[in-house]
Amino acid sequence: MLRVGLTGGIGSGKSTVAGRLAEHGAVLIDADKLAREVVEPGTPGLKAIAEAFGEEVLAEDGSLDRPKLAAVVFNSAEQRERLNGIVHPLVGQRTAEMLAEAADDAVVIHDVPLLVEKNYAPMYHLVVVVDADIEERVRRLTETRGMPEADARARIAAQATTEQRRAVADVWLDNSGTPDRVLAQADALWADRLVPFEANVRLHRSVDYGNARLYDYNPEWPLQAARLAARIKLITGGLRVDHVGSTAVPGLPAKDIIDLQVTVSSLEQGDAFAEPLAEAGFPGDRRHHSADPGRLANIQLRLEGSTDWRHALLFRDWLRASEQERASYLEFKQGIAKQYTSGSAPENVKDAWFDKALPRAESWAQQTAWSPS
Ligand code: ADP
Repeated sequence: MLRVGLTGGIGSGKSTVAGRLAEHGAVLIDADKLAREVVEPGTPGLKAIAEAFGEEVLAEDGSLDRPKLAAVVFNSAEQRERLNGIVHPLVGQRTAEMLAEAADDAVVIHDVPLLVEKNYAPMYHLVVVVDADIEERVRRLTETRGMPEADARARIAAQATTEQRRAVADVWLDNSGTPDRVLAQADALWADRLVPFEANVRLHRSVDYGNARLYDYNPEWPLQAARLAARIKLITGGLRVDHVGSTAVPGLPAKDIIDLQVTVSSLEQGDAFAEPLAEAGFPGDRRHHSADPGRLANIQLRLEGSTDWRHALLFRDWLRASEQERASYLEFKQGIAKQYTSGSAPENVKDAWFDKALPRAESWAQQTAWSPS
């Protein structure tokens, strides 16, 4: 099963994208819809609300009078918390039930308006954010949904910022254009990424890198690494995860493969995480790779204090510190890339450079009193 978190500001087009993915066969879990269902007439949820806030929040037909309830909780953080304390656990329970019912090979799209605000991103294999300009969103909300403009603006202002959403977005769908453009992006996302990613996760299969070429340094790499690291931290109960390798050195061209080092205190501890890591999309055995065709990654579990562990951190920090050494390393990498134009280079092809560079890195470490922590 692949768990995809879908979010975006109100009026961005989240439901439009969710609907399209559902047409392709995704299982949709709509958090807003569940929040309404758990307080329908006759539910324990509605009973609890009536007990907490009084019968006056019920309409004549016994259903929830939303405007009245909104008025009660609007000005009181305490009352809002009380309401959330009733509704959120019920939504969580329904969500868990729906996940349990989904088929082994399902792609589950979890539409969660407050995914960013609630810090849920690391729980998913992938987070998709739908976005559109604020003015465009206000226009859609007022024109197609008949929302008063002041309401639309107040709701947008109360939600996460674009920057906060960017930080968690593995996939950014721009819906500023016509609907058919975002729908085409959703179609491509489904076919090129979600379907193969799901199969890879289910079969514990990683993506074949083939002969990855060198790219100019991408300032998005640290953000992408941080998103993967947050997932791994969640799975491992907070182990140290470092972004290492070439993509961790600003200014250095690199293969578009994120290297992460997970610090374990024993190899047995690392082995215990093999299964949960595979389930989260990183299959492997101490050396793990990504199952996501859209984001290649190597995840290496290394023993704290071991030579390899220390060297990964040392070389990263040393290359970050010296422009000249970066240039020398790049020249070496370009030489390899030319030599192995077809088929991938042997695993240990870079060892010769690192062996020669090690004394220079070590003397830099001494001079700067560098430490791996
Ligand atoms: P959300 O679920 O993010 O609040 P919706 O998918 O419901 O957003 O879209 C908000 C409104 O804008 C809907 O009425 C929808 O039909 C409309 N809409 C969505 N995408 C576009 C678009 N690209 N151009 C114009 N209107 C759109």
